[in-house]
Amino acid sequence: MKTPRYIIDEAALERNLKILKSVSDRAGVRILLAQKAFSCAAVYPLCAKYLAGTTASSLFEARHGHDNFGGETHVFAPAFIPEEMDELLGLVDHIVFNSPRQVALYGEKARAAGVSVGLRVNPEVSVATTPAYDPCRPNSRLGSTRATLNAQRATFNLLDGLHFHCLCEQGVDELRKVLVGFEERFGDLLPQMKWVNFGGGHHITRADYDVDELVALLNDFRARHPHLTVYLEPGEAVALNAGTLESRVLEIQPPGEDGISNAILDTSAACHMPDVLEMPYTPRVCGAEMGTAGPHVYTFGGPTCLAGDTIGTYSFPRPLHEGDTVVFEDMAIYSMVKNNTFNGVNLPDIVLRHVDGTEETLRRFGYDDFAVRLG
Ligand SMILES: *Cc1c(COP(=O)(O)O)cnc(C)c1O
Repeated sequence: MKTPRYIIDEAALERNLKILKSVSDRAGVRILLAQKAFSCAAVYPLCAKYLAGTTASSLFEARHGHDNFGGETHVFAPAFIPEEMDELLGLVDHIVFNSPRQVALYGEKARAAGVSVGLRVNPEVSVATTPAYDPCRPNSRLGSTRATLNAQRATFNLLDGLHFHCLCEQGVDELRKVLVGFEERFGDLLPQMKWVNFGGGHHITRADYDVDELVALLNDFRARHPHLTVYLEPGEAVALNAGTLESRVLEIQPPGEDGISNAILDTSAACHMPDVLEMPYTPRVCGAEMGTAGPHVYTFGGPTCLAGDTIGTYSFPRPLHEGDTVVFEDMAIYSMVKNNTFNGVNLPDIVLRHVDGTEETLRRFGYDDFAVRLG
């Protein structure tokens, strides 16, 4: 068996999709896949059975969703690239601008192309736990505050909808707080809108997420604003815990001063799971505990020359050996979409494990995938 490989678990993906579909059915909302988290076109036909469409933040993502997923295609960007606007407007149903200035530049043109126009607003309610994932942090470049919007009221009449995105891996309590701030600051504009987009960051498919509370909150909002179509655009929640990254132990080094052995794997944090270093976080490993409490402790590191290319320290009940397989959990999201070939490290295969257990290799990478981007 070739390693490393990402394995997308079709059954787990479908379980998530069914939960999301139940929310859209029970709450009368439309749910889109935020492709930034997960963009595997091979499973888009499956996703499209349960979701209303996709959202994008670039021309390429928009085209990817339009061509492979169908349904509705939405796009938001902090600023759009002028040369791409015509092509983009041919692909999308909704375009969400980040500022009244962008609405003034492109709003008329979008409307003339039959595209519904929205503005991303900043409700100024910080609920995300780290600044890197808090679009409401001070001086945020994402979304217009009410003060910014008031300075350019002329754009109001170009708007069909409002969009906010303030959550990151969060639950209904945080959404409720954001929604209160949103309605306080922007509620007076809602009568003239056709839709509102509640963004992503809803961890709807996590085991402890209160789906009934979400449905109640959404139904309450819709009862108060019956003319509005409500969108949610989760990324993570679509493919949460729906994939793994399988790798192999290349070498186990003798224990260091602290008694812990470095194990070099054929997978890299820097290349194959960048969020481990960027977010940062420590991924779960199948059959291991995080930390040093157990009898056989290893720090996993990648094959690059980067000193910081370490994944985490784990305890195993039995010793590991060279050639053993190590499986990282929850690796469908923010992994394939962010990986890279730093140091010439090859990309993992992408494998789809079907519901019946059979495995299909969707993609295998090689030297050309490394060299093609280097000029
Ligand atoms: C990242 C992002 C999403 C998806 O966020 P998740 O945390 O993956 O659910 C949705 N909308 C916007 C505007 C985003 O930037």
